[in-house]
Amino acid sequence: MVRWHRDEVILAGDLVVKNGWNAIRATSREARDLSSLLRRAQLHPGETLPKNFRSPSSIQRKTYDLLTADEAYRGKPTRFGPHDREVVRAFREKPEEMGHRADAIRAALVSGEALVNPDAQPDIDDEATAWEGGILEFVARRRERNSTIRRKKIESVLAHGGSLSCEACGFEFSTAYGPRGEGYIEVHHVSPLHVTGETETSLESLALVCSNCHRMCHRGEWITPADVAALLRAASQRR
Ligand SMILES: [Zn+2]
Ligand SMILES: [Zn+2]
Repeated sequence: MVRWHRDEVILAGDLVVKNGWNAIRATSREARDLSSLLRRAQLHPGETLPKNFRSPSSIQRKTYDLLTADEAYRGKPTRFGPHDREVVRAFREKPEEMGHRADAIRAALVSGEALVNPDAQPDIDDEATAWEGGILEFVARRRERNSTIRRKKIESVLAHGGSLSCEACGFEFSTAYGPRGEGYIEVHHVSPLHVTGETETSLESLALVCSNCHRMCHRGEWITPADVAALLRAASQRR
């Protein structure tokens, strides 16, 4: 059996919630739609997928597994996967955010933006494998590297009288490196795409950061430039 990716579990969980915390029948339109989406999604590069991969009946089974992973469930537990319990709890605790997340994941899969291009692998940050942080993080990082998006952000900051300095530490490439650093700065998605449920990148959701702070934003759990600034302050107080 091909293990369920956390984002796949989220999409199944979303169906359960939308169905009033009930399982989804294999014959339903929802099960068939999710089945065909996940079959097309290519979320398991390098794995040989069985013929019945994410069939409508496997979707139905997963929704039953999710219900038995719910803490409110009192019946006999079935086998549930590693992400099931945590995803169900997240839907119970923050239904709105999880609903947004599911919508954004679905949009990224439908648009093909989440597809890993095998030729582009070396471009993916060396520390992270493609899916480590999930589909939305992957898509956000890909958009950050998009030169058009970066240019638009830089232009809008300059047009509003801002400077190209790091929002976390204040570093300015042109000050440090002279003409060679002129116009250089990196952009960072302040939060991955699920928080607002946005499917397009808005310039407000991007921050300017230097390369060091940018690395720290992405290392491990995704944190904001403000978080990095707080780390810098705390470290300087310790010295
Ligand atoms: Zn910085
Ligand atoms: Zn970033």
